[in-house]
Amino acid sequence: MKNAEIISKKPVTDGLLDYERAYKEFSWEAIKKDICIRNNKVNIAYEAIDQHAQSWRKNKVALYWEGADGTCQKYTFLEMKKLSDKCANMLRTLGVRKGDRVFIFLPRLPELYISMIAIAKLGAIAGPMFSAFGPDAVRDRLHNSEALVLITTPELKERIETVLWELPKLEHIVLVNVKEDYELEESDVCYKTLMKDTPDKFEMEWMEWEDPLYILYTSGTTGKPKGVTHVHNDMISHSITTKWVLDLRDDDVYWCTADPGWVTGTVYGLWGPWLNGISSYIYDGRFDAAKWYEIIQTFKVTVWYTAPTALRMLMKDGDDLVKKYDLSSLRYICSVGEPLNPEVIRWGLKVYGLPIHDNWWQTETGSIMIANYPCLPVKPGSMGKPFPGIKTAIIDGKGNELPAGQHGLLALKPGWPSMLRKVWGDEKRFKEYFSINGWYATGDTAYKDEDGYFWFVGRADDVINTSGHRVGPFEVESALLEHRAVAESGVIGKPDAERGEIIKAFVVLHEGFAPSKELEEELKKFIRHRLAAHAYPREIEFCTNLPKTRSGKIMRRLLKARDLGLPTGDISTLED
Ligand code: ATP
Ligand code: MG
Repeated sequence: MKNAEIISKKPVTDGLLDYERAYKEFSWEAIKKDICIRNNKVNIAYEAIDQHAQSWRKNKVALYWEGADGTCQKYTFLEMKKLSDKCANMLRTLGVRKGDRVFIFLPRLPELYISMIAIAKLGAIAGPMFSAFGPDAVRDRLHNSEALVLITTPELKERIETVLWELPKLEHIVLVNVKEDYELEESDVCYKTLMKDTPDKFEMEWMEWEDPLYILYTSGTTGKPKGVTHVHNDMISHSITTKWVLDLRDDDVYWCTADPGWVTGTVYGLWGPWLNGISSYIYDGRFDAAKWYEIIQTFKVTVWYTAPTALRMLMKDGDDLVKKYDLSSLRYICSVGEPLNPEVIRWGLKVYGLPIHDNWWQTETGSIMIANYPCLPVKPGSMGKPFPGIKTAIIDGKGNELPAGQHGLLALKPGWPSMLRKVWGDEKRFKEYFSINGWYATGDTAYKDEDGYFWFVGRADDVINTSGHRVGPFEVESALLEHRAVAESGVIGKPDAERGEIIKAFVVLHEGFAPSKELEEELKKFIRHRLAAHAYPREIEFCTNLPKTRSGKIMRRLLKARDLGLPTGDISTLED
């Protein structure tokens, strides 16, 4: 257990100040009471937008938007209310009713955010999809969900043209950013034209807490993506986790770098900040280290929520670049999506002067479950402690709780507000989550230390069994990252007659380093000094990049399949 290193901080928050007390006294009912109830009916869009549009926040900026070409726009809460009312009216004229699925295949345009709110106002179910998807990924999702309407752009429609005939349930395509000379097909409608003549007042559907809100397909890291379905009740979790984990307050400018096609971009790029009335910045461009720093400098971003893959890329681009920008507005940084290597935290502390707060959750959990908080010290490499109201445990295959220090399955006690309600069209897969003695099984392995901090070991499928020892790929990858030549690595177990499995590492080098037999030996020696002797990679392969999901997660199952010449399985979410 590597819990010797602790980063202590002075809390700069007016949010969560006493973790232990909050955990002990917490009640979801109390949080729910804070949320307006009209005849016990609700709508997340009311809480996130309309409520603020009627309050002192009406002229506060809800969305600072920047396009890939540098165009900037801003929208107040009042403007967002009117635009989403208009959009809801428009979708209603197309026949969208409560419970219908409306899917969105757009770049991170303002229309994406406006439609998400409009769909909620209609009581329909939104399905945001990442705009880099290919035709098969889009078809699978529209087919599985039996979507009635698709909102997209002419360019993206062209990309998926070949699969549209396979979608008999799809009645309308709404096109955003249509140029004047574009010829609309009969079943298509132009967003801008329809919006122009539509009233900006809409009587929203008042929903039951348990009515569905959105379907998000998981990242596809371990297999075929699952259509995880969430409900309006999720807002209870969204709202309080945003406040206590991301530490947002009214004067913040918040930047979540995730796309709404992934759960982080929907929950913490949209609902969480707006439920709390926070100004959110959205960038519709690709990753570029210099541009990212420029954004923080120009928009005076105060709270930044990003992912390990982005942080590793920033680290790869070096310390000198950081020095060229004024990043003094930043006061809080969080990370999610993959294990956050301790080396990245140390680097962040050096160059940004701030600890990076890792947190853990899944599409299925609908909100942050384990986190580092402003009021607690950070132990680099640990995901932190369970969110108040969340009972986490490390269990064996039968559901028995294991003591501190022991590796096992990470499990949660079912019943928190944002827990998945179904897997769309797959009741069997849904039940499997709850098949270990009443626990919700996450599919990840971890351990808890004596102080109650949780440490990620690996996906249950990725854990390596070598000579009777269980080794998580993350610890080997993190140790490799501590070597100055290594920029990134992916570690797998490879069948071996003698040892069961041996550890193989795929390594991407920093600029200025070249693959060689000597470097390979040096890396092996380096790991042997850092980890137990059995945990060093007997095989190292240098490569120029690693296969990742479009949300930036290393696809170890693909490294393994390729290495062993096995079928690759579902690769619809694989990055180009
Ligand atoms: P699929 O379920 O389709 O295989 P996925 O699990 O990657 O894809 P997501 O729901 O986007 O889909 O990701 C959740 C998973 O991401 C977690 O189960 C965990 O393995 C990983 N993860 C998220 N945050 C962290 C973190 N802070 N540390 C370690 N792992 C994390
Ligand atoms: Mg998963």
